[in-house]
Amino acid sequence: MVVLNNLHCSLSSATGNVLFLPAGHHSVSSNTRLFNGNVFSRSKNQRVTIRNSSSQPYIDQLNNAKLIYSVAPSMGHNKKSHPESHFRVPSIVLALEQLELTPEFRDSGEIIEIKDFNPASVDDIASVHERDYVSLLEFLDSTMKKDVVFNIGGGPTYATETTFQDSMVAAGAGLALLDSVVAASKINKDPPVGFALIRPPGHHAVQHKPMGFCVFGNVAIAARYAQRVHGLKRVFIIDFDAHHGNGTNDAFYDDPDVFFLSFHQDGSYPGTGKFNEAGAGAGEGATLNLPLPAGSGDAAVRAVFDEVVVPCAQRFKPDIILVSAGYDGHVLIPLAQLQFTTGTYYMLASGIKELARDLCGGRCVFFLEGGYNLESLALSVADTFHALIGDPSLASEFDDPNVLCEEPKAQVKEAIQRIKHIHSL
Ligand SMILES: [Zn+2]
Repeated sequence: MVVLNNLHCSLSSATGNVLFLPAGHHSVSSNTRLFNGNVFSRSKNQRVTIRNSSSQPYIDQLNNAKLIYSVAPSMGHNKKSHPESHFRVPSIVLALEQLELTPEFRDSGEIIEIKDFNPASVDDIASVHERDYVSLLEFLDSTMKKDVVFNIGGGPTYATETTFQDSMVAAGAGLALLDSVVAASKINKDPPVGFALIRPPGHHAVQHKPMGFCVFGNVAIAARYAQRVHGLKRVFIIDFDAHHGNGTNDAFYDDPDVFFLSFHQDGSYPGTGKFNEAGAGAGEGATLNLPLPAGSGDAAVRAVFDEVVVPCAQRFKPDIILVSAGYDGHVLIPLAQLQFTTGTYYMLASGIKELARDLCGGRCVFFLEGGYNLESLALSVADTFHALIGDPSLASEFDDPNVLCEEPKAQVKEAIQRIKHIHSL
């Protein structure tokens, strides 16, 4: 048994040998490549002319691909000691390399990284946010002096001199994946799932301002993009972050064509996402909020998935599934009091992939949201990758059952019964 507490993620040692994995696994002898700009360089190439490292047309690679991902670490968007730090995405990429979950370890082409993509356009962002807010952030970006950090929203959320541009790149990384998944679904009935390894996160950002570490609503922007550009009318959004995705919730609250389903810790930030918040007007019933009691863990999520997520999605009949993939419900993250494990995220990813295959031609894109313990974040995303490519889980090596307490089974059951009654499931 290997426990997370015994792992060491020395990300501050940017040029040294970084040991991340327990004994018995491969470790990368030098990780300098991770930090020298190759992985994180921005490209200005056209979003639609995506190519892989061998410069073959990307579309030719899609037949074998099971997973495609994009990386936007927003290295300039950082505030010292803030949990939403620029170490988050590099820690994930490092784990993926060490667990051989990057394209260079998969000659068959089952994993592809999209490196050439455009930032989102202002019009893309303005499909969800007010143009005045977008302009303000762009103004701050152009006028800030280096290293100046402003708190610009609740949460607290900050902005640096690169926040606007970084956020545009992050949103664009998600849209590029969406383009690729949709293109793949036209030639393959079992297309790859997308995973956007991006930050800043998005699900708390509201129409006119940033909030809760989030700047632009990446998932909401992608939902509107899927409808507008690809004609995918019905979008089903699953948000498994520990906190309620209030920004996404609000963006589609009266929209019958975008179903927003969030399960999150009851009473946690930002305090919204109660049982009775179920949509309004034409969108009544197309929002489902399930607050779970503190202490909810793997058993709770399995029940929620089987009894709530699956029947909801089946009834809605989506054209695409988007996922707000937050990893801050992990038992080792103090920002919430949930008890999700690496295995919980593996199970969720497997289930969601199967759901997408059954309901919407396999079209599905995950977007990184929260997750602030670098070790549990990286390993949970890595095990999500395992699930999405059909590899076995390594959760039994990563998770330590000794840190888990008994789940509040009766309260969870009551919560599930209540939401099933409200939504007639
Ligand atoms: Zn969160």
